[in-house]
Amino acid sequence: MILMNDFAREPAELIQAQVSAAERVFRSGWYILGNEVKAFEERWATLCGTSHAIGVGNGLDAIEIALRALAIGPGDEVITTPVTAFATTLAVLRVGATPVFADIDPGTGLLDPSSARTAFSLRTKAILPVHLYGQTVDLPTFSALAQENHIHLIEDCAQAHLATYDGRPVGSWGVCGAFSFYPTKNLGAVGDGGALVCSDQNLAQSALMLRNYGQSVRYYHPVEGLNSRLDELQAAILSCRLEWLGSFTARRRAVARLYDSGIHDTRVVRKLSKPADLSRHVYHLYVVVARDEQTRQRLQAHLDSVGVQTHIHYPVPIPHQKGCTRMRTVDSGIPNALRHAQCCLSLPCHPGVTDDEVAVVVEAVNSFARHG
Ligand SMILES: *Cc1c(COP(=O)(O)O)cnc(C)c1O
Repeated sequence: MILMNDFAREPAELIQAQVSAAERVFRSGWYILGNEVKAFEERWATLCGTSHAIGVGNGLDAIEIALRALAIGPGDEVITTPVTAFATTLAVLRVGATPVFADIDPGTGLLDPSSARTAFSLRTKAILPVHLYGQTVDLPTFSALAQENHIHLIEDCAQAHLATYDGRPVGSWGVCGAFSFYPTKNLGAVGDGGALVCSDQNLAQSALMLRNYGQSVRYYHPVEGLNSRLDELQAAILSCRLEWLGSFTARRRAVARLYDSGIHDTRVVRKLSKPADLSRHVYHLYVVVARDEQTRQRLQAHLDSVGVQTHIHYPVPIPHQKGCTRMRTVDSGIPNALRHAQCCLSLPCHPGVTDDEVAVVVEAVNSFARHG
């Protein structure tokens, strides 16, 4: 089977480096908030072009901590996208705020700034776009939108590690950026992990407190925080894996180029729009769009029958999730998001997939389109 992710194929050299890093932590005798976390945070902030990085327990918490550090809570609205991992919205719900859904651009699946523009109300406190599939949203437009309306731009960077827009990394455009280091992300730990990046000293200070029970100095708690810290062990692993991120991203882009040139755009299956600039996409996922829901189902079955695993990112628009208990949607609705959820399909695109395997996937998609 050609898998969506295949960690068994990781380079032996990387595995060995991770074993040594883990051993270093075991021998240090220090497991929570020590030098490994500090070193990784410093390196990550530098790479993201921000003054601070705060290691946290996971990507969901990174967004929740960002919202809480910005004093966003009950009665406030946060504009976001209906096509994303549930965690983006869950963070908004957890702080007691109301997510407001605008529609997406059908060419990319990304939050559409012109639809987002219609989502504002007097209660709007932030806009939370997602760099979905590894593609950067239109950052200059979203930055301008946030500035004009005197609200915060918070970037969900969980799928777009070190993607850049006009040379500036994601996470450095908004007031802050939230990362996940879930194992399947472009930079992943061997368990859960996350980080918040920002350049505002006060925001960084709040986030540092919030991740550690709301503690200012030992045993003093000026705010009600949470327990959400990046482990020393995960930080040590992440520092190893960071050495490989550049080559892994290059390989993801090469795989995407093979799909771009190999897969024919047809009435049956189309590709998402290519970014204007390659640095704007780190190909967390490579997504195609089928003609309709039935075609997607048949395409997925066909690929499965020739040994190609695929996933759907995401089958249910967030406002249609039962767990989305509080929300608002723009007046014009989210027709593009509904269609995308019915028709999108993600193909294997990870650093370990071979050219021969990509060729198998390409041929399977094209032959389906010829007969489908
Ligand atoms: C993975 C992901 C998250 C959540 O990250 P966790 O570390 O799993 O909590 C949030 N947003 C997006 C877009 C993601 O892909």
